[in-house]
Amino acid sequence: MIGSVGCPYTCSFCIDATVDYQPMNFDVVREDLRFLLTKFRKPTVGWHDPNFGVRFEANMEAIASAAPRGASVSLPRAACPS
Ligand code: SF4
Repeated sequence: MIGSVGCPYTCSFCIDATVDYQPMNFDVVREDLRFLLTKFRKPTVGWHDPNFGVRFEANMEAIASAAPRGASVSLPRAACPS
């Protein structure tokens, strides 16, 4: 899943600093996750989002709201500390 590209911050050493922050719409994220659940019973989803933490709570809310009731949603293994 792609959660966003670019970054809203401007760290001088980072290539993402020159790319405008373009977050994926949460409705699209939910729709994509729900589609995935029609194809796999217990999918493991990888996120390509170096700035997952910029919208951490909202990202987790979108993921949890797409998951079936009672399903466990675990945290990403890596995210930029921004
Ligand atoms: S916050 Fe992270 S992704 Fe953004 S410019 Fe700085 S190092 Fe790069």
